[in-house]
Amino acid sequence: MPMDQHRHKGQRNKLIRTLIQKGVRDEEVLKAIYKVPRHVFMDSSFEDFAYQDKAFPIAAGQTISQPYTVAFQTMLLEVKKGMKVLEIGTGSGYQAAVLCELGVKLFSIERQKELFDQTRILLRKLKYPAHLKFGDGFAGIPAYAPFDRIIVTCGAPNIPASLLEQLKPGGRMVIPVGQDVQQMKLVTKSADGQIKEGDHGDFRFVPMLRNRNA
Ligand code: SAH
Repeated sequence: MPMDQHRHKGQRNKLIRTLIQKGVRDEEVLKAIYKVPRHVFMDSSFEDFAYQDKAFPIAAGQTISQPYTVAFQTMLLEVKKGMKVLEIGTGSGYQAAVLCELGVKLFSIERQKELFDQTRILLRKLKYPAHLKFGDGFAGIPAYAPFDRIIVTCGAPNIPASLLEQLKPGGRMVIPVGQDVQQMKLVTKSADGQIKEGDHGDFRFVPMLRNRNA
């Protein structure tokens, strides 16, 4: 595993400036992104590009999300230390690491076995205490529900009813919904269970797929 060197910290500083220019103002989110060595979550052939604000290919034909997208979704999620958070689409584990830096109790589901195995080893090595599950994100994790927050990091066809059910009253879910282009939706559940939805712009994600390793 490539080490986190001085030059990587310098590159992350630049990335933070780019994110601020793009409108990210949440200090806690910026600090978390500064701490996570993104280059370690990518194939070594992309190491030199790791701190560009771009998505890159990872194993199993998937992508590591763009830092701006990670920052934006994390801001919308409004997590606080100790909250129970469910992520759908562990992928490289980068978004998971950013959430762990914010002190949440993270559960994350991945449906690609290759990625699941690889990322489990990596997050352990880096001592990020995420609970990873191999399976279908559409099902959520009923045994650990309800969650204070739910974040979906693949393009969903709709807002899955099972995930809405597993959201705590007073909770927030951030989920990109759509086919080729996704609208970033913030879904809130009030204390009495009422659901509200807001749109937060267009993004592009790999699709949220139903069957495991299909
Ligand atoms: N959060 C990741 C983003 C990876 S891309 C990161 O920071 O790198 C989205 C991931 O969602 C892919 O790894 C893909 O395999 C996964 N995915 C797609 N459909 C899924 C489903 N139904 N359940 C769980 N994971 C899914």
